[in-house]
Amino acid sequence: MGNDREHRIFNPRMECMSRDERAQLQSERLVQTVRYEYDHVPVYRARMDAKCIRPEDIHGIEDLKYLPFMEKTDLRDQWPFGLLAAPKRDIVRIQGSSGTTGHPIVSGYTRNDVDVWSEMMARTLTAAGCTPDDIVQVAYGFGLFTGGFGAYQGADKIGAMVLPMSSGNTQRQILMMKDLGVTMLCCTPSYAAYLGETVRDMGLDPNVDLKLKAGCFGAEPWTEEMRVHIEELLGIDACDIYGLTEIAGPGVSFACLEKDGMHINEDHVIAEIINPATGEPLPYGESGELVFTTITKTGMPMLRYRTHDICSLNPEPCACGRTTVRMTRITGRTDDMLIIRGVNVFPSQIESVLVGIKGVAPHYMLVVDRVNSSDTMEVQVEMTEEMFSDTISHIEQVRKNITDQIKSVVGIATNVKLVAPKSIPRSEGKAKRVIDHRKL
Ligand code: AMP
Ligand code: ZN
Repeated sequence: MGNDREHRIFNPRMECMSRDERAQLQSERLVQTVRYEYDHVPVYRARMDAKCIRPEDIHGIEDLKYLPFMEKTDLRDQWPFGLLAAPKRDIVRIQGSSGTTGHPIVSGYTRNDVDVWSEMMARTLTAAGCTPDDIVQVAYGFGLFTGGFGAYQGADKIGAMVLPMSSGNTQRQILMMKDLGVTMLCCTPSYAAYLGETVRDMGLDPNVDLKLKAGCFGAEPWTEEMRVHIEELLGIDACDIYGLTEIAGPGVSFACLEKDGMHINEDHVIAEIINPATGEPLPYGESGELVFTTITKTGMPMLRYRTHDICSLNPEPCACGRTTVRMTRITGRTDDMLIIRGVNVFPSQIESVLVGIKGVAPHYMLVVDRVNSSDTMEVQVEMTEEMFSDTISHIEQVRKNITDQIKSVVGIATNVKLVAPKSIPRSEGKAKRVIDHRKL
């Protein structure tokens, strides 16, 4: 869906160059990065040697497919500094991620890498409408997690007024938002929804009491339905923003105000989609695992890094004027896909059903277990206050409706349980949506 909003572009030269010119730039930068990585990172050199590939065999992006992959396990195996390509004294920042599987990972950024990241975030915020006249509230956590610093650096580069709130203390967030006339918000989508609900609970009307116009929300999967919900709750444009610690942090890709996919900063990274089972590259439009190669980083460059995030790529030019490839929303991760009685289930499929149903809030928890050797999934969903005081028969009708819709979207029967308002724990950072007792 197009819209008639004015599109702002931070770096028109890089964001709007012809696809041929960009391919040429990517090829040059790739050749340099491969040589640099080979010369400075022994494990990667050994891996290339094992495949009998030498840096001089890589002439451009058409040769990318010959390079070996890198994985999150490489960061763990080389913990903490084994993948650094630059001397330690050139590293000016460490950021990290707890990941979902326990052992943390860290990445080292040189001054150049922090600048590249700031540039990507400045592009991101500009695409959502940010100018030096804006006041940007950063309610992503500040710390090893990249969200807080990333948004801060981008807004700072634009010259906007930054409010580095970090996450949490919701009432105070709203007080600052209101009294300082904040115009842009950066946080996880689940926290944006929570902030929006709290604004309403405090008796405020976002269209009257707040000056918010847009938000950049990411760091976790969310759906189109959730986007519309947040836009209505806060009276804003909600733009998706994607990134990961290993590649740069948030801003690797971002939605413009067309909200039709996320523009990838292709002068800094090359994106591929592969078949997760075979590793074979897939054509544009096909859904698979997203793989990134950094072509401007010097601290810890990543070559064909497997993200385990699932999406597809769209090379069509966008109405905003950018020529960069867009990635679709992340529909799930290869590793958070639940397999319930042999059927693949992603939490985002359940979310897309729930957000469309009146009487329930988009706060849910999937509780998975195995009973008598068969998988069970309970979908716990919060009722709204009005629904909670409604008749039992109406509540039962809604419950049945949700059960039927999940069955038709996901293909399996689930046990839907409607729970009291505000009983599912709220998240100030990334939301936890699944409890899988089978893995305990
Ligand atoms: P971290 O490095 O801890 O920030 O985690 C990065 C991971 O967060 C990515 O690999 C994705 O799985 C997830 N992520 C980040 N942004 C988004 C987004 N906009 N939509 C879906 N998942 C996201
Ligand atoms: Zn666009």
